[in-house]
Amino acid sequence: MARILVVEDEPDLRQVLAYNLRDAGHDVVLASEGRKGIALANEHPPELVLLDLMLPDISGLEVCRALKGAERTRDVPVIMVTARGEEIDRVVGFELGADDYVVKPFSIRELLLRLRAVLRRGATPPEESASTAPTQVHFGRLTIDAGAHRIWVDGVEVALTPLEFKLLCTLHERRNRVQSRGVLLDDVWGASQENMTRTIDTHVKRLREKLGIHVGQYVETVRGVGYRFVGRPPEAEAEPGETR
Ligand code: CA
Repeated sequence: MARILVVEDEPDLRQVLAYNLRDAGHDVVLASEGRKGIALANEHPPELVLLDLMLPDISGLEVCRALKGAERTRDVPVIMVTARGEEIDRVVGFELGADDYVVKPFSIRELLLRLRAVLRRGATPPEESASTAPTQVHFGRLTIDAGAHRIWVDGVEVALTPLEFKLLCTLHERRNRVQSRGVLLDDVWGASQENMTRTIDTHVKRLREKLGIHVGQYVETVRGVGYRFVGRPPEAEAEPGETR
């Protein structure tokens, strides 16, 4: 089914995971240390990483940051495995782009369900990602694949209507420049009627909602004029954890 990299230092748990994941039909690659995990992921990007938080060399958070920061592995979903009482780390894990987490001790059944959900919503089959890779652009936490008409926020695919997709691409292509509603009507809708500008506002609003609280802010409102896609991701200069 899927190629899964398990980074786990406890030998017993590692073997139990390997056995059950293989039993469920997955192709399993094992690493007992963080650096080894990063190396294996770079060598041959898996379709999912099951990542223990407490590792002997570097922490699971550092591994997650490394994977999400590298071009080759940034879209690979990561499920963090944490022990009880690691609440803060858990949140930080999400900020670093982890896609889900499980708390030890967990049942294999629960893990397989989570795994399936993450694979379904986030993953791109390897053949597909290879053929569409050149058309993917990354902007902060947003990934756009213009060729495939698909977008991802924090590695999770978001379904857009064709019009919303065109609106997002048009704004992104002209980022840092204000686009008036008239221009957007012409270029996105192919129409220029005064009374249609409300349509744009409605679509931008819906697009922002779909992009979520962080990435939605990439599309700024320029009062009385139109919209502008920001010049660079706000995360670059904002403090981590900052919200609207
Ligand atoms: Ca551990």
